[in-house]
Amino acid sequence: MAEELERQLLVVIFDVNPVWWGIKSLQGQAQITKYLDCLRVFVNSYLLLHFDNHLAIIASHSTKSVFLYPPMKETGVIEPEETAPTDKVGNDRRYGHFARVDNTVTDKFKELMREGCEESDIRRDSVIAGSMATALCCIHRMQNELPGKLNSRILVIKAADDAASQYMSFMNIIFAAQKERVVIDACILGHNSGLLQQACDMTNGLYLQIPNQDVFLQYLLTAFLTEAELRKHSIVLSQSTRPREVDYRAACFCHRSLVDIGFVCSVCLSIFCQFSPICSTCETAFKPPPMAAKTRKKRKTPA
Ligand SMILES: [Zn+2]
Ligand SMILES: [Zn+2]
Repeated sequence: MAEELERQLLVVIFDVNPVWWGIKSLQGQAQITKYLDCLRVFVNSYLLLHFDNHLAIIASHSTKSVFLYPPMKETGVIEPEETAPTDKVGNDRRYGHFARVDNTVTDKFKELMREGCEESDIRRDSVIAGSMATALCCIHRMQNELPGKLNSRILVIKAADDAASQYMSFMNIIFAAQKERVVIDACILGHNSGLLQQACDMTNGLYLQIPNQDVFLQYLLTAFLTEAELRKHSIVLSQSTRPREVDYRAACFCHRSLVDIGFVCSVCLSIFCQFSPICSTCETAFKPPPMAAKTRKKRKTPA
């Protein structure tokens, strides 16, 4: 048992898209505050597993990402976590470290909701890719600051629909996460997300769509509390929750729709569903396909 201690770092990304939560609230199907309560119970349970478990929570809005925990200084720098959490019991009989996490998350969330957003910022999709990039930066920084090995994991709690415009950023993030050995888990509250399915599959994470929103906390505690390494020992997790089929189709850059076969720019690897003489991404000019080939057979090879 003299193995070197491996620290755990969990970064939770919570989708707070105002349009999605507004519609669900009007329909009486879901309330964001109830979900936030469940999330607080979940992160407290995670911190309870080991005294040296590290945590960050990022709220993903339609135009910005905000740290709910740990708090940010005025300068935009993350305030360091206290390395040795106090076991003091507060006035309300709560364990000191949990109370601090609870209070910080609640205060920051209230602040975010009070601030609201400009009318032009109200969108149906959230900046999930941006939040994931922030999470990777946070992980990278903590890896440099903390001694010893750090097992890092990102859990995305996604509500709003995918935005195909984020396809490129998503792919870059998945490759960066693979390189840093960061596992990406996804807990989906709304429609299935093709982008996150790919992210989870490529980083050995867990993708789970919650069938019934009343059991959110149960799902969090059952599926997402254990670290990725231990999941293979769990019969429930190893058999029932792995995605059976992952949609690996790419989105074309012109219409943002998924394509089976398309034209690929040989310079920047942008994907298009139809031939265009100038690549809209890198502005490289291409010769139109030769007429002969056109009449003989419609070509579907890269431009
Ligand atoms: Zn297209
Ligand atoms: Zn190009």
